[in-house]
Amino acid sequence: MSNKKPQTMGANKQADDAKDAVTVSAIAASYDDQIRPLLDAVDRLRHLKVTQEGIQLPTIVVVGDQSSGKSSVLESLAGISLPRGQGICTRVPLVMRLQDDLSADAPKLQLEYSNGVVVATTESKVADAINAATAQIAGSGKGISDAPITLVVRKKGVPDLTLVDLPGITRVPVQGQPEDIYDQVSNIIKQYIAPKESIILNVLSATVDFPTCESIRMSQQVDRTGDRTLAVVTKADKAPEGLLEKVTMDDVNIGLGYVCVRNRVGDETYDQARVEEERLFKYHPLLSKIDRSMVGIPVLAQRLMHIQASIIAKCLPDIVKQINDRLSRSSAELDQMPQDLNNVADAVRVFFRIVKQVCVSTEKVLVRGEFEEYPDDRDFHGTARVAEMLAEYAKKLPAQCPRSDHELFLMEEVRILEETKGINLPNFLPRSAFLVMLKKKVETIDQVPQELANGVWAYVEDLVIKILMKHSDNFPQVQSSCRRAVQGLMDKARARSAQHVKELIEMELVADYTSNPDYMKTWTEIMDGYDKFMEAVEDASKPARITLQGLMDGLALHVLLSVKRLVEKDLEEELGNEVLGNKIAGVERMLAPSPSTGTKRERLKKSIVLLRQSKEVVANIMDRINAAGEV
Ligand code: GDP
Ligand code: MG
Repeated sequence: MSNKKPQTMGANKQADDAKDAVTVSAIAASYDDQIRPLLDAVDRLRHLKVTQEGIQLPTIVVVGDQSSGKSSVLESLAGISLPRGQGICTRVPLVMRLQDDLSADAPKLQLEYSNGVVVATTESKVADAINAATAQIAGSGKGISDAPITLVVRKKGVPDLTLVDLPGITRVPVQGQPEDIYDQVSNIIKQYIAPKESIILNVLSATVDFPTCESIRMSQQVDRTGDRTLAVVTKADKAPEGLLEKVTMDDVNIGLGYVCVRNRVGDETYDQARVEEERLFKYHPLLSKIDRSMVGIPVLAQRLMHIQASIIAKCLPDIVKQINDRLSRSSAELDQMPQDLNNVADAVRVFFRIVKQVCVSTEKVLVRGEFEEYPDDRDFHGTARVAEMLAEYAKKLPAQCPRSDHELFLMEEVRILEETKGINLPNFLPRSAFLVMLKKKVETIDQVPQELANGVWAYVEDLVIKILMKHSDNFPQVQSSCRRAVQGLMDKARARSAQHVKELIEMELVADYTSNPDYMKTWTEIMDGYDKFMEAVEDASKPARITLQGLMDGLALHVLLSVKRLVEKDLEEELGNEVLGNKIAGVERMLAPSPSTGTKRERLKKSIVLLRQSKEVVANIMDRINAAGEV
């Protein structure tokens, strides 16, 4: 005998037509086969709190103005009593999981809240238990909270539904309510109804004008077309006049339609209430005109189960994708976190791995010209930038050859030569005189190579520190001493370069010029005669280029070699000394985990566990769906 779920709510109780009974049991069977597992999967995901991972679950959210009858509707669906009273009594979201349990002789009720508190309760005590849990979460006053309580109701004949009841919307705070109660409540409501996975069950009292309802205004903000909004009109018994018109005209855009109900009144039992409701919509002169597909709690239950099944089916593939995405993102993030460092040996190992990474990265960008780590950041394309600087300075040199204001280059020298003409042999240029003059000139331009060296080291320092900071991201404790080490290293490099530049210039001046073929050529030409020398001198760039080109080449070579040495040897040594020196105080600092790292790791680990479990839940259900599809 298949179960009679669709009949249990009462509307079809009189359905004695045999054909109908067959259809109904077929629906019930397929419901148990196909829809129930979907609901279970979503409930399990909700239980696992995947929403904490930002994954939205298909949810039916009950909204309504204060005293519109939200709790009463839930009571009618569940057939149990919920807390009721004046003003706000729903002060935290209440997730109600109704599960039809044929095997249950008596209903089984259970409350879950505050991360793992589970309390078994009974129908008569559930209202008190909810109030006690609410007080624990939101205080005993009139405050509210967005931390939910879950009420599981396993009972024969209830519709399989999960609904969320929210605090009612109120414009004016009542005695004892916080001043900003409206903002607080509307924030909680928005948080629940904004996701497109939510179905909005808008509870409207027949006694009010729908367009004036706050809950209508709010649901229209997030669901303008009303495609995911279903209206329940309560208190049909209290205001039957004009109700038919109200629900057929639909001037508030309710896309999923209206269901009019009559909840329990006074001391009625739930069964009595259903009988009264049925009678009301059957015989009332005005209410009986409303189509039967739009009235009664059993119709509402069927509509909700149907809507719930289709929204779940629609959302599930995307949920699978989101779980997988988040799982791989969290795992990747955790992989990049530093492992726990338990002892100095661990710390030293990790530290040298970081140093190695820094050296490799630096070598790639500054020596090899491999930029795959920073494809889009030109600032990290080290070899290109250094080459640019060298080219820039090479261009500057001839232009900056000294000439006092409007004078021609070397004109002073020419004057001196003219002066000495009489003393020396005619047509013979004294080599020593020439060198003295040249030296003077070159000294006045030694600023240029010095500037180049400084510019290059400033750039390299900045680059190395950026790379270092990136790789040591997980150990902020040692970053400042590493930075100091790099700065010290750069100071040394700068000093070496300055010295080198000086030597280069001196070499240019005192070394044997005969080693330079260009120079020899010029020299011979000059020696050929004073007239020829004058020609050479008047070609202003010539002698300058001989000397300065050599300087330039020497400097470029020096810069490149120094950078190479830096990444191949000095950097590792210097960082090691800084952190390992001073009785390895630096590395010991690494052992004290930075608090933010610890919390982050914990969060990621938890998130991964949760996502793995969720993945399993959805994998099972997807397998079932696929298997069913193949049959
Ligand atoms: P909530 O604040 O939206 O949760 O509203 P409640 O469910 O607490 O209902 C507010 C009041 O309206 C209570 O006194 C209910 O008994 C009453 N009520 C709710 N639904 C009906 C109904 O269909 N008919 C009648 N006559 N009273 C109702
Ligand atoms: Mg309520």
